[in-house]
Amino acid sequence: MSHQPIAENRPTPTIEDYLAMMFVMERDGESIVAARLAESLEVSPPTVTVTLKRMERDGWILIQGRRNIHLTELGSKAARSVIRRHMLTEWMLARMLKVPWSEVHSEAHAIEHHISDEIESKMKLNFDNPQLCPHGNPFPGYEHVTANWQALTQLQPGDRLFIRRIHEMAEADSKLMLFLEDNGIIPGTQAEVCDVLPFNQTLTLCLEERRVVLGFAAAQYIYVEVL
Ligand SMILES: [Zn+2]
Ligand SMILES: [Zn+2]
Repeated sequence: MSHQPIAENRPTPTIEDYLAMMFVMERDGESIVAARLAESLEVSPPTVTVTLKRMERDGWILIQGRRNIHLTELGSKAARSVIRRHMLTEWMLARMLKVPWSEVHSEAHAIEHHISDEIESKMKLNFDNPQLCPHGNPFPGYEHVTANWQALTQLQPGDRLFIRRIHEMAEADSKLMLFLEDNGIIPGTQAEVCDVLPFNQTLTLCLEERRVVLGFAAAQYIYVEVL
């Protein structure tokens, strides 16, 4: 028995992951750089180069220079589709299967590419049309919901806050995610910045029952609502 494609004109899982990453970079106003794709997707730079060529041939992206890569309308549509399926799958894993918060992102990758449009609609309905994923990242079209949250690295000692969002770029780092979960640094947690040491590139968060030291490299991906 042969497997029919889940939907017409949907790219392969690999291309979907590239498109999702690129969508996030463009959304954040960053240029799409091959080296960063290689690092984030854990593939070699030559592999990225070959894949990008193929993606341009197939109409997902436009390459107008090394630092001038853009999603086409078709590419953006496909990216938004896989991001929605990714986030809905995260909710399904977290809520229905009680998969730990720190693991739902990586588990979702194995499932998200094989969800039909019909099942996507059912998931959306079942989870009350969420605007954010379990990590606080916005569904495409809901970027305004997160617009006023600030990166933790912009705060001063004494600032009180709610943790709201762990950026997509950190979600893929499973050790960091586990550390954050173990220390209660997840959306909804209240905390205070009790120390910032720029020469050390660290800041200390005081939570209800513990103090957690974070490097700026990780803290830049944690977005908060300042009280
Ligand atoms: Zn994936
Ligand atoms: Zn997420």
